[in-house]
Amino acid sequence: MEKKQFQAESKRLLEMMINSIYTQKEIFLRELISNASDAIDKIYYKALTDDTLVFDKENYFIKVTANKDARTLTIRDTGIGMNQEDLESHLGVIAKSGSLAFKKDNEAQEGHNIIGQFGVGFYSAFMVADTVTVISRALGNHQAYKWESTGAEGYTIEPWTKDEVGTEIILNIKENTEDESYDEYLEEYRLRSIIKKYSDFIRYPIKMDVSSRKLKEGTEDVYEDASEEQQLNSMVPIWRKNKSELTNEDYEKFYAEKHYGFDKPLKHIHVSADGAVVYQAILYVPESMPFDYYSKEYEKGLELYANGVLIMNKCGDLLPDYFSFVKGMVDSESLSLNISREMLQHDRQLKLIAKNIQSKIKSALLSMLKDEREQYETFYKAFGRQLKFGVYSDYGMNKDVLQDLLLFTSSKEKKLITLDEYVSNMPEDQKYIYYASGESNERIEKLPQTEMVSDKGYEILYFTDDIDEFAIKMIMKYKDKEFKSVSSGDLGIEQDENKDESESESAEQKELFEHMTTLLAGKVSKVKASKRLRSHPVCLSTDGEVTIEMEKILNAMPN
Ligand code: ADP
Ligand code: MG
Repeated sequence: MEKKQFQAESKRLLEMMINSIYTQKEIFLRELISNASDAIDKIYYKALTDDTLVFDKENYFIKVTANKDARTLTIRDTGIGMNQEDLESHLGVIAKSGSLAFKKDNEAQEGHNIIGQFGVGFYSAFMVADTVTVISRALGNHQAYKWESTGAEGYTIEPWTKDEVGTEIILNIKENTEDESYDEYLEEYRLRSIIKKYSDFIRYPIKMDVSSRKLKEGTEDVYEDASEEQQLNSMVPIWRKNKSELTNEDYEKFYAEKHYGFDKPLKHIHVSADGAVVYQAILYVPESMPFDYYSKEYEKGLELYANGVLIMNKCGDLLPDYFSFVKGMVDSESLSLNISREMLQHDRQLKLIAKNIQSKIKSALLSMLKDEREQYETFYKAFGRQLKFGVYSDYGMNKDVLQDLLLFTSSKEKKLITLDEYVSNMPEDQKYIYYASGESNERIEKLPQTEMVSDKGYEILYFTDDIDEFAIKMIMKYKDKEFKSVSSGDLGIEQDENKDESESESAEQKELFEHMTTLLAGKVSKVKASKRLRSHPVCLSTDGEVTIEMEKILNAMPN
């Protein structure tokens, strides 16, 4: 029997996990049970398209057995199992190396919790076990295999016998140390509570033999110890439950269990639609940006279930790009189970659901903006840029959906305000919505161009994000008010409107300006006297559509 090494990355991760003082060791059970449930799902799904396979619900379950004397905890499932190659490739290599990179980058901070919330799955078993044994027989195979590992040193695989298809994971629970107790993972009550906490919605029964004292049959006062198999999970998925039965904590638990993010959700949206299209959904607005959000690896999408069975992990068609930060799941009875990915794209039901979901997200965000302003601003700091990109992309097609969700810093009080708030603050004589672009609020404040507008008592929106001005150009008008850059030639303010500035120039000035224009040829098109300056001697202004800031950005873009 050959001993094999883990891949380098896996080895490092294992070491890190085993050696770290882990605050939530109990999650190993959630991980192993989820894997077992996934394995049963795989058979279920196969049976839908394979006529030779019958899925009889009775035969599919997960069983947890603790043996205090042997110090073992066994998790057995009747799922699809693993052959030799699966054991090698699935348990010998860590799939999500991205989480390792993340952990390394963040080690200095709260590294310890991250692993748990990421769920590195199978490997978490080593937090409580010194030896992990996996005996598995894959569907369609007679030969079973035993995989065994004592941690970072490597693992062995050898042929084994097993009567039924499925997997058995045997954990040799560690001995208690001075500061760490492991005995609890062999205690019935503790296992029961962990399972209830994390795995209550698992759709297959999780069984355990529970001991109790029972009246001996045929007697009236003689008790005996008995052991009875019980189902520990309620199995009803959270999304099928009534909103009123659920607490915030339930939704947060589901978020963590599903690995939607390593943060806490900022807001959840529970939808139970039964109009033109019937579906349930639980959607989350995360609190912070996923670490890979702006990388190529980030994939938007929601989990898609057809009548309770997972058919796709990330269905991108359910979310528009501008809401790509939303996490969650959708379950619909209207979808056919064995629908292919290609067919899904054209599915009318799916399109209806997507449209419906988009409007649910929008109204949830609007109500957060209205009623929970502080929360909304947290959200906006993380994802506002995405909304602005949404306004700009697709030729402004989605501006109506998104414009009311935008916030910009206003010159008054330096607070974030909406376009609607801006317009309702406008004095009657103000014609335009003014904005100024710059690197930062401090820089913008010093711009000479802002003085005249501010002196009139008009508010100015500060655009500090590259995308801001481009997005606004797509909106063009908000409530019939056009946007105007403070650096544009015509500010539409009374004082400088009626008189043509060049006419009032004296001959002397004229000569000077002409000379200056020649000197600055190619840099400016004209030098003229300005009425808008207060404390600054000079400023730049533009006449066209493209402002100075936009020009800078356009010039910086690769051709
Ligand atoms: P993940 O579940 O995120 O894929 P894990 O580390 O939890 O990552 O598991 C790795 C892989 O090992 C799974 O994707 C699956 O292919 C396989 N696996 C783990 N446990 C089982 C099991 N009980 N039955 C069948 N396959 C399993
Ligand atoms: Mg897993």
